[in-house]
Amino acid sequence: MTKYSILTPTGLDEALELLEKHSGNIKPLAGGTDLLIDFRYGKPAPEFLLDITCIPELNRVKVNGDIRIGPATNLTDVSQSNEIKSWYAMLAEGAGCVGSYQIRNLATIGGNICNAVPSADTAPPLLAADASVKMRSKAGERTMPVAAFFLGPRKNALQPGELVTEIELPTLKERTGSIYKRYTHRKALDLAVVGVAVQLTLTPSLEIENVAVALGAVAPVPLRVEAAEKLLVGNPYSEELAEEAAELAKKFAKPISDVRSSAEYRQKIVRVFVKRSIAEAHQRAISARSGE
Ligand SMILES: Cc1cc2nc3c(=O)[nH]c(=O)nc-3n(C[C@H](O)[C@H](O)[C@H](O)COP(=O)(O)OP(=O)(O)OC[C@H]3O[C@@H](n4cnc5c(N)ncnc54)[C@H](O)[C@@H]3O)c2cc1C
Repeated sequence: MTKYSILTPTGLDEALELLEKHSGNIKPLAGGTDLLIDFRYGKPAPEFLLDITCIPELNRVKVNGDIRIGPATNLTDVSQSNEIKSWYAMLAEGAGCVGSYQIRNLATIGGNICNAVPSADTAPPLLAADASVKMRSKAGERTMPVAAFFLGPRKNALQPGELVTEIELPTLKERTGSIYKRYTHRKALDLAVVGVAVQLTLTPSLEIENVAVALGAVAPVPLRVEAAEKLLVGNPYSEELAEEAAELAKKFAKPISDVRSSAEYRQKIVRVFVKRSIAEAHQRAISARSGE
C-alpha cells in the first residue's frame, strides 16, 4: 500500500520552506484527481505530499482589470466565476467540461496545467488568452507565458522547489468574444479527442483586430495556429475565411492515433471545430459589451 504523510502549510512561505526542506521527497498536492490516481496505479509516491489547498492566497480569483487566478482554485469556481464567464468564456467552458461535478469540485486549475497532459481542457483557453504562469521557490519568483510552461506530455517548466502561485489573464479590449469546444466520444467523463479555443477581438468597424486559435490533444503540447491567426487578422469575418483558417489548422495539427481516435479523424475534427469556433467567437464578440 502507498504510504505518505500530508503536510498542511497555512501560508506560502511555510509551503516553500517545506518544499526546500524535503527536496526530492515531496510533491505538491492540490485536488489529487491526477496525483492520487497515479499512486493507485503504482507510481511511486514521495514520503510527503504538500497540501496547497489550505493556503488562502493560492485559492482565489482576483479581478483588477486583469484576472489573477490562484492555482488551487477548483474548476467549479473557475467555471462559475462571473468575471471569468464574462471576459474569458472559453476558460469557464474549458473548466466546466472537465470530468464530473465531483471531479470539478476537487480538481484545480493549477493541477490541470501542472499535470501537462495534451488533452487538458484549460490549456487551449489559457494559451488563446495569452495567460502567464507565476512560479515561486525559496530562491525567488519568475513568470512565463503559458505557451512556454508546457514542455511535453506530463512535462512542465517547474524547477524543483517551485510552486505555481498565480495564473494571470490580461485585460481585454471591448468587442472580444471567445469559445472553447471539445470533441469527446461521450458527453461526460471523457477526455478530449480534440479541444479548440478561439478568442477574437473586433475593431469598431467589425474587422478582426486580434485572434487566437489554440488546439489541444493534437500534439505533445497545446498549440497556437499562427498561420490561421495571420490569415484572419485585418479582415471582416466571412464563412469562407473561417473555412480557409480551419483548413490551415487541420494542416498544422500533428495528432497521433491512439485508443480514442485515429490521427486522420482528429485532423478532420480540427477543421470542423475550428470553423465553428471562429464563427461562434465572432458572434460573441459582436454581442459583447461595447464601450461606445
Ligand atoms: C474521472 C476523471 C475525469 C477527468 N476528466 C478530465 C477532463 O475531462 N479534462 C481534463 O483536462 N482533465 C480531466 N481529468 C484530470 C484531472 O481531473 C485534471 O487534470 C485536474 O485539473 C488536476 O487537478 P488536481 O488539483 O486534482 O491536481 P493534482 O492531482 O493534485 O496534481 C496534479 C499534478 O500537478 C502538481 N501540482 C498541482 N498544483 C501545483 C502547483 N500549484 N504548483 C506546482 N505543482 C502543482 C502535482 O504535484 C501533480 O504533479 C480527469 C480525472 C479523473 C479522475
